[in-house]
Amino acid sequence: MKTARCLIAALVAAPLWAASLDDSARQLSRDILRELIEINTTDSVGSTTAAAEAMRSRLLAAGFRAADMTVLGPNARKGNLVARLRAAGAGAGKPILIIGHLDVVEARRSDWTTDPFRLVEQDGFFYGRGTQDMKGSDAILVTTLIRLRREGYRPDRDIIVALTADEEGGTSNGVDWLLRNHRDLIDAGFALNPDSGGVTTLDGKPLDVEVACAEKLYADFELKATNPGGHSSLPVPDNAIYQVADALSRLEHAAFPFELNAVTRAYFARLAEVESRQNAADLHAMLAQPPDQAAIERLSRVPQFNALVRTTCVATRLEAGHANNALPQTARAIVNCRILPGHSAEEVRLDLERIVADPAVSVRHIGDLNGQVEDHAPAGKSPAPVALRADVMAPLERLAARFWPGAPVVPDMETGASDSRFTNAAGIPTYGFSALAIDRDDVRAHGKDERLRVDSYYDGVAFYYDYLKALTGGAAK
Ligand SMILES: [Zn+2]
Repeated sequence: MKTARCLIAALVAAPLWAASLDDSARQLSRDILRELIEINTTDSVGSTTAAAEAMRSRLLAAGFRAADMTVLGPNARKGNLVARLRAAGAGAGKPILIIGHLDVVEARRSDWTTDPFRLVEQDGFFYGRGTQDMKGSDAILVTTLIRLRREGYRPDRDIIVALTADEEGGTSNGVDWLLRNHRDLIDAGFALNPDSGGVTTLDGKPLDVEVACAEKLYADFELKATNPGGHSSLPVPDNAIYQVADALSRLEHAAFPFELNAVTRAYFARLAEVESRQNAADLHAMLAQPPDQAAIERLSRVPQFNALVRTTCVATRLEAGHANNALPQTARAIVNCRILPGHSAEEVRLDLERIVADPAVSVRHIGDLNGQVEDHAPAGKSPAPVALRADVMAPLERLAARFWPGAPVVPDMETGASDSRFTNAAGIPTYGFSALAIDRDDVRAHGKDERLRVDSYYDGVAFYYDYLKALTGGAAK
């Protein structure tokens, strides 16, 4: 009996983190995660300042100089923490910036099985709002800074960690605010953003390791028709509802052109190695020169692929009319677009005008921050994908092979948008990489009962420590 049990125990692999994370580091990372989860940082009633101050106190206790940490922001509730681990001497290059948002999406106790603002460990998972998005990663960053400081580690360039407000909502985005008001505090040669990218697993088994190197641009447009209206017993040919409905119908059947960039091309090439036979054949045909149209059409039926190969625009809201017995005086639809890198919102507005093909339906842009409807959209092109720098990618690939063996590192384009849009636009190339492994069918960010595998969390703690050392001249284990 005893022998059999020992044998079984030996066969069950020890978690990956076990090799490099001692009990005290593990406990520290868990305490920090608990503290962050239990500070409410929602836009409605929470405070990122409270979370920023709590992390600042921990860093201070670990030996950081007060002068190397600042909590600042546009108002009392939307504070951001900027902390700097100083290089030895003058440093070998521009600092590395790591950004993480502290705010979380709203969560109601009545919707959840557990209290969303308590860290609960159950069945191998940590439950709580922000475990996936993204207090898990914030806690990893603070833990890593503390471990590096305690051992007296001196990087070969400054490491800056910025924990910020209002990524999920609100009007005080911390990364935007810091770049506008205190660029010197966070200026860097490149940035990492653990809010995107990451390790995709299936039943805990790693499939791939994604690094977000590009993002689509977000834009809202208003389609609107107006009409004098009149009595509904006397219909006339010009009807605002029909005009907008016809415009939407044309939009429904119009696809934006197929287009790949360096990142999506590399992503699909890697994907072709692991996909099912038909998909793999189609991916190869799509990557060929010239690309095969039938393959593009088949792959475009998969929403995740479709969103990577073209700009998408979809109707998301509709309102019209003012009485059951009156001809409509206005009809208005909102169309949300996700625009490929290298294109501008104004370019897409003109495309929409062409697709709508009806001068009676206006196509106007809705301002990002103020919600104002304006005749023209910004003409600036969204940033091109960041270059896959060897000094960023090589250590990541080397460590990924150890932490998630067999899973290829793939560059990836986010179909949504993260705070990387601000740093990229400011000329700080930003790589999205979360070291957290999340099951493909267990993405609970923004949802109820958000959770993270306990082993996934500790792997992330172990990974970021090794990765930051490898990036800054420390001995890579
Ligand atoms: Zn997030």
